[in-house]
Amino acid sequence: MSSATNFRVTLLGTGVPIPRPDRFGACTLIEAGRQKLLIDAGRGATIRLYQLGIPIGRINALLLTHYHSDHTVGIPDLWLTGWLRSHYATRSTPFRVIGPTGAKALMANVEKAYAADVRMRIEDEELPPQGAAIVVEEFSADGVVYEHDGVRIIAFEVDHGAAVKPAFGYRVEFARRAVVLSGDTRFNDNVIKYGAGADLLIHEVAMAPLELMAQAHIQRLMNHHTNAREAGQVFARTRPRLAAFTHLVLPGSSQVPPATVADLIAETRQTYDGPLEVGEDLMSFDIGEQVTVHRYEHRVKT
Ligand SMILES: [Zn+2]
Ligand SMILES: [Zn+2]
Repeated sequence: MSSATNFRVTLLGTGVPIPRPDRFGACTLIEAGRQKLLIDAGRGATIRLYQLGIPIGRINALLLTHYHSDHTVGIPDLWLTGWLRSHYATRSTPFRVIGPTGAKALMANVEKAYAADVRMRIEDEELPPQGAAIVVEEFSADGVVYEHDGVRIIAFEVDHGAAVKPAFGYRVEFARRAVVLSGDTRFNDNVIKYGAGADLLIHEVAMAPLELMAQAHIQRLMNHHTNAREAGQVFARTRPRLAAFTHLVLPGSSQVPPATVADLIAETRQTYDGPLEVGEDLMSFDIGEQVTVHRYEHRVKT
């Protein structure tokens, strides 16, 4: 990734609130030219950055889709660990956060929660105070929310349920290419609208075993998300060069096992026959003449 025109997306976390070691919390890394941006910061975002050898403090901005905890619990770690004086940290400039209405309140409270740590490290370790500063930008409607050095990011509202507002997806444009992320949403026409012409469309997905569909809490869960057939319809109508799933909502119970990746693909194939990948943590996509997929070779790194 040395060329200024390189455009790569890496799924750092493809999971949901379940604390699975193979699927961390929602987080997607965008590398575009020399910029590194994160969309959401769920559990373990810093661990995945470390696995890629990317200093945690090297992130130029964090963009948030909505305020469910599985998308935000990694924020204090990203902010504070990224500030330490170490090869894996190194941020000496303010931590930049962009999100829908609520980002300022969230970050003000995070800042309050860790005030003692920040005070101690400035005094004791002589860390630069400006590296612990936080800059937040909020938005409340569809439009451009980030524009820097050839990267343009457009936020668009999605539908994650009547009581879960605000909720947004993002369209990231760079070098005449586009990557679109649905964020957490039910089937939503705005994803189709902003997904037009996408090289890579990354969509959330949910699938519950039939045996569990009678349960009220499973119905409620499914009502906040897009099922595989519906996601297939979004892909069929937008025709991205590659469609990929992340944020796999696959409920099960002690008696009924959750749907498998194979089940998810079979169900999506009912409505969509184009290129499809089911995301894995650290799977990356290079967006150029072709969209190429790379799986991460898991190895122990200490
Ligand atoms: Zn959510
Ligand atoms: Zn979520």
